[in-house]
Amino acid sequence: MSDLIQELTAPNKVKYQQPLGLFINNEFVKSTSGEKFATINPANEQEIASVYAAGPEDVDIAVKAARKAFKDASWKDLPPTARGKLLNKLADLVEENANTLATIETWDNGKPFMHALYVDVAGTASCLRYYAGWADKIQGDVIDTTPNKLIYTIREPVGVCGQIIPWNFPLAMAAWKLGPALACGNTVVLKPAEQTPLSALYLATLIKKAGFPPGVVNILNGFGRVAGAAIASHLNIDKIAFTGSTATGREIMKLASINLKNISLETGGKSPCIIFEDADLEEAVNWSHKGIMFNQGQVCTANSRILVHEAVYDKFVEAFKEQCKNVSKIGDPFEDSTFQGPQVTKAQFERVMSYIESGKSEGATLALGGEAYKDVNGKGFFVQPTIFTNVKDEMKIYREEVFGPFVVISSFKTEEEAVRRANDTTYGLGSSVFTQDIKKAHRVARNIEAGMVWINSSNDSHYQVPFGGVKQSGIGRELGQAGLHAYTNEKSVHVNLA
Ligand code: NAD
Repeated sequence: MSDLIQELTAPNKVKYQQPLGLFINNEFVKSTSGEKFATINPANEQEIASVYAAGPEDVDIAVKAARKAFKDASWKDLPPTARGKLLNKLADLVEENANTLATIETWDNGKPFMHALYVDVAGTASCLRYYAGWADKIQGDVIDTTPNKLIYTIREPVGVCGQIIPWNFPLAMAAWKLGPALACGNTVVLKPAEQTPLSALYLATLIKKAGFPPGVVNILNGFGRVAGAAIASHLNIDKIAFTGSTATGREIMKLASINLKNISLETGGKSPCIIFEDADLEEAVNWSHKGIMFNQGQVCTANSRILVHEAVYDKFVEAFKEQCKNVSKIGDPFEDSTFQGPQVTKAQFERVMSYIESGKSEGATLALGGEAYKDVNGKGFFVQPTIFTNVKDEMKIYREEVFGPFVVISSFKTEEEAVRRANDTTYGLGSSVFTQDIKKAHRVARNIEAGMVWINSSNDSHYQVPFGGVKQSGIGRELGQAGLHAYTNEKSVHVNLA
């Protein structure tokens, strides 16, 4: 073992070289202070490895590297098609290393290996490939005003982008941020979440291998209040892109105001799922179960509030309970049959358990779960899939984001009531509606205050489609063509022909 790289053997026997340093200028280096922190396997509570933690001085070094790279001909003058080729090469390398990447993701985060492989890693490659295709299709306009003028616009990269990402989809979140930023010709300082530092460092080795010039992508692990805050407030960073909690998003906005950074935020949610009496109930149960229980409930768009028409309420609740019992198999995330692994950390486990206590003490009915689950050695941050019924709209469990395998199911009488109560939240990220009535479906889709609506499905996002929220769920859009706009400035050039 060296200080900067360690051979690790994961619980599924995959052996690989894990980088531990800060990735700056295409090299792994120690942090200036020498400080490290450990990352824990949430399935058995054992330490996996310790990585270097960046401080403000390391952020400064990385920003200097990113600024130099931004101005260097090797990146600045690289034809857009060549930028696309680099992104495609990176996507190839992600696919070639899919088994190792999925192993790291499962080990560090606790998510089932099958999900890591077929959702996270496959989604990472798809997103990079999608933005590779955009790299040489980023165009300005010609605007006709008078015969005496030629006016055109150029879409220029914003500059050095600070990107701060969460732990629920560590690799995919990195791809959602890196893909559009690099396609547009920016350079990046990316900070993974301290709960899941490992996969982004392995991705860094692939970024170097793909041939990106030094300094174009810099990846610094570290703590939010130290490294994250140093990125958000850095005077030489032009843009900040963040995914995480609304509270931290607010903090980042304040820090980023120091130099009026371009900002995009994707924050929390308490997404409603409305099920009408004419819905295909089996489909509704299927989708809404996945929509909240997938990824241990740690999804920002999770349909955590289910509103069911009173005529089918009892039937739905019974079927949803059965679905949890039959599908939400908890256990070793490396087992192929596991649907639900542990929560990412002890803190998140305790947070979910505290909401369970809150639901009980506020008088809601615990219809299923509500207990921790431990492995054969009495370890792991697992929580049983939990359902509360008889929930009042003013209860904490109805209003706040829990971020766990935890759902509240409530009944409604009319469409008007369902939409009003769906919108009675400070959030506005995802939403879904189940009905066979095409007019009602589109009417509700229009009336819901959310960035995304799924009709007769849930959490069915796609990299080609804009993703983001309204109200306190965020600012701006990621993915799709819209995702590019966050990473370019449009310059207007006026040519006087008179
Ligand atoms: P968080 O928002 O605090 O962390 C997300 C990222 O922000 C991490 O990289 C973290 O290091 C960084 N960060 C934290 N404080 C910062 C600061 N002051 N300045 C700059 N960067 C900072 O989320 P968390 O504490 O890990 O989780 C708490 C809750 O947030 C969860 O229970 C969940 O409700 C929500 N959450 C939402 C998402 C999402 O995808 N929207 C993801 C993770 C967590």
